[in-house]
Amino acid sequence: MNYKIAVIKGDGIGPEIVEASMKVLDKIGEKYNHTFDYTEVLAGGAAIDACDTPLPQETVDICKGSDAVLLGALGGPKWDNLPGDKRPEAGLLGIRKALGLFANLRPAMLFEELRDASPLKSEIIGDGLDVLVVRELTGDVYFGEKKKDGDFGASDLMNYTRPEVERIARVAFDSAKKRGGKVTSVDKANVLETSRFWRSVVLEIAREYPDVELDHLYVDNAAMQLVINPHQFDVILTGNLFGDILSDEASMLTGSIGMLPSASLGEGKFGMYEPIHGSAPDIAGQDKANPIATVLSVAMMLRYSLGLSDEADNVEDAVKKTLAQGYRTGDIAGDNSNVVGCVEMGEKIISNL
Ligand code: ATP
Ligand code: MG
Repeated sequence: MNYKIAVIKGDGIGPEIVEASMKVLDKIGEKYNHTFDYTEVLAGGAAIDACDTPLPQETVDICKGSDAVLLGALGGPKWDNLPGDKRPEAGLLGIRKALGLFANLRPAMLFEELRDASPLKSEIIGDGLDVLVVRELTGDVYFGEKKKDGDFGASDLMNYTRPEVERIARVAFDSAKKRGGKVTSVDKANVLETSRFWRSVVLEIAREYPDVELDHLYVDNAAMQLVINPHQFDVILTGNLFGDILSDEASMLTGSIGMLPSASLGEGKFGMYEPIHGSAPDIAGQDKANPIATVLSVAMMLRYSLGLSDEADNVEDAVKKTLAQGYRTGDIAGDNSNVVGCVEMGEKIISNL
């Protein structure tokens, strides 16, 4: 099969980690007889420099015409002083919106080989950590009406509509069906009307999934439970604001920002895939970046957008094997590890495919 992939290499370490990941994808193509046609497009800082906007229309159009988007990372100190709507981050928010991506999936899994990197005690980690945070991306206080009353005060309206909650709930239940069979919906229903509404809609959708277990937690409790008893979680379903916070918390429990992938999905199979970390300007251009988060994002792309689950398993297994062989980039290096750069880490993974 032939697949069209839009590629946004981005800023900082973006080009290095994306190039390493594209080579992994090419090898998968060779092995399983697929062709991946890449179209490179600009967004973020690189787009500001070249076209004076963080999100050129051409980028949106080409992404829309593709099967999936692979993105490195956007932003950096060079563009920090620009006004909000002109910054690289505006490109990222804009592209998610333009592509109708409403679900952000962030698996936080601990690789056994990196157990020591987790801030959690070994007895809490037990036989491992594997939580999927499903965060809603289009509603909540991020997009509600914003007001500023001079120097006196300000407000951000928190709102959710039925279709928004229904579709994100379905993403969570569908994911749980393929994983551990449990959804924990996180809200603040003791205080917020939006949360009570959220909870009632989630309960309705749950009836469509009798084989998935559902429970509800208040967000303050969920934040605490993630640290003291993470094993109770399989899929965490939550809104935009709580999801922003909880997904960072969950991912850091695995101790390794350079390891974790993410997918942003809409209706249908199309999605955008990127590492959870930023553009790491401090190590850009030095062949020090860890490409694994991006390589694992490619695995998510193979699985979710292209329907190639054997190929996705192959990529994930190759990453595990490479770690088991002791290869580490600087960010995850420990005693006795064999420290390699971004390019070599990519090559080791390819040799294990
Ligand atoms: P953003 O605002 O874009 O999320 P950030 O300021 O949160 O960015 P990152 O760019 O994620 O920060 O970097 C945080 C730290 O983690 C930096 O020291 C960076 O070098 C390191 N880091 C991030 N990604 C990687 C990676 N893939 N490999 C190695 N180190 C990384
Ligand atoms: Mg960050």
